[in-house]
Amino acid sequence: MLRRAQVREAQARAAAMMRDAGVVFTPEEANAIAVADFGLSRLEIEGAQILTFFNSERVSAKVIALFPGQTLPEHWHPPVGNDPGKEETLRVIAGTLYVGLPGEGCVRHALLPAGKEDCYTCRHEIVMAPADQITLEPGVPHWMQAGSEGAVLYSFSTCARDILDGFTDPNVVRETQIID
Ligand code: ZN
Repeated sequence: MLRRAQVREAQARAAAMMRDAGVVFTPEEANAIAVADFGLSRLEIEGAQILTFFNSERVSAKVIALFPGQTLPEHWHPPVGNDPGKEETLRVIAGTLYVGLPGEGCVRHALLPAGKEDCYTCRHEIVMAPADQITLEPGVPHWMQAGSEGAVLYSFSTCARDILDGFTDPNVVRETQIID
């Protein structure tokens, strides 16, 4: 749950980060940046700010801004009807991004949210810099966390049906509740 003032502040902060990264968008698009707290009510720790350029039945393009150290919780994109699920390419534009993928190894750079180890099972960590990109096949779990300067990235994908995404953390509620 987020207060409306918190949402506006996060939108403005994310829009500034995106503009600094060279992304071009309208004031209306800035006001439509989705601020997601994943129902956990601690946006700075677990959350994401997402600007959607478009999302058709087949293709989607978004920009995601993560504040310094902010983590987008571990999730996957399950099959929906005949669609095998969202295939997603992440391309970093600014900052450093840590991505967790299935596998062992250890998480050396990211600092997973304290006490929530069981909600972050992907322990193969990838460190991404601007112009690095990675394509995630449908159904593959992943989480991401921004480095100390925050991160801005593109998410290009097949049709996004965010509300149907699976999350490892059973407390996640995908739709953000906003109160005045
Ligand atoms: Zn994803």
